[in-house]
Amino acid sequence: MAAELKRILITGGAGFLGSHLGERLLAQGHEVICLDNFYTGSKRNILHLLDNPLFSLLEHDVTNPLFVQVDEIYNLACPASPIHYQHDPVHTTKTSVMGAINMLGLAKRVNARIMHASTSEVYGDPEVHPQPEEYWGHVNPIGLRACYDEGKRCAETLFFDYHRRHGLEIKIARIFNTYGPRMHPDDGRVVSNFIVQALKGEPITVYGDGSQTRSFCYVDDLVEAFIRLMNTPKEITGPINLGNPGEFTILELAEKVLELTGSKSQIIRKPLPSDDPQQRQPDISRARDILKWEPTLPLADGLLRTIAYFDELLSESSQPNLKVYTGAKAATAEPIERRESHGA
Ligand code: NAD
Ligand code: UDP
Repeated sequence: MAAELKRILITGGAGFLGSHLGERLLAQGHEVICLDNFYTGSKRNILHLLDNPLFSLLEHDVTNPLFVQVDEIYNLACPASPIHYQHDPVHTTKTSVMGAINMLGLAKRVNARIMHASTSEVYGDPEVHPQPEEYWGHVNPIGLRACYDEGKRCAETLFFDYHRRHGLEIKIARIFNTYGPRMHPDDGRVVSNFIVQALKGEPITVYGDGSQTRSFCYVDDLVEAFIRLMNTPKEITGPINLGNPGEFTILELAEKVLELTGSKSQIIRKPLPSDDPQQRQPDISRARDILKWEPTLPLADGLLRTIAYFDELLSESSQPNLKVYTGAKAATAEPIERRESHGA
């Protein structure tokens, strides 16, 4: 029997993860509405989808209510890199909290199933390692990362209250560091930073002593898990950790990037940002059990694909007459103090 074709809303659909998800859902024959305010997302990410009759673009901010008839909502809208979410922290919290309220209200009105892109940051600087979903976390509520961490925690609360109160079909994914093509080159995340620095022959900036760990998941693996989670029976709400359990120190990542790019860049040290988690590794037993899923792409292979993407992007932007569409308001290479405020 042919799979049921649906009308699907992706908030943050022009971002890194959202654009890959949209592409995959279109390939399955679904209709996709991409909602984005282009705060960190980019028209370039979805340029190849614009001619698809099943794709439509809605320029909208999730902090404002919306009415659109859909079967499913993937709620991804939110700046994700520390530089971007700390640029306008009040708007970041508003995006998570008011965005959740508006999208849950929409789901309730049109009886849609809704998935939320939560984060490993709900565990803060974890004292339990690796992190299972039962762990309640160790978050500084007044630190620089709190606008993001607490916003995402509050969004999870809202999702569960709408589920308990109104019987909404919810799915919560706690995403661990994910990387791949279409990450923004200036968003400051470690994988994009190191690759761009290596390709430009600039110093690789390791913050602190580089002993802090992260676990990196390739985007295609994550998108597969998103779709499996959305299609679980309605009793399955999550939260479910999604990520790659392979754990690396930041110094190991720097060395791997140097090796794979063949770059002669030097590794330099910079101060560790405040509240930077010392370790992070997902316990994905629940995802293995419920979704029958685990990541398949090894880090080196994913890095090679990502390196190829940035290589092409950098050569495009070095051609004087070729405009690279970033569309991003916060995503510029300017120092943060000089960037125009987004206006909370
Ligand atoms: P991204 O910055 O590339 O994408 C976020 C998208 O949301 C952008 O297109 C941006 O323009 C849009 N957006 C931001 N605020 C908005 C608003 N108020 N209204 C409408 N659109 C808005 O980041 P990403 O890596 O693709 O992350 C997508 C989601 O996944 C985010 O919610 C993020 O918190 C979550 N997540 C990502 C990771 C990761 O490693 N990539 C890890 C944990 C959680
Ligand atoms: N990091 C680094 N150099 C960089 C960017 C990041 O050493 O140029 C470190 C950062 O301090 C953190 C880790 O890499 O310990 C992951 O940072 P990222 O911003 O990618 O994600 P998050 O901290 O949210 O996991």
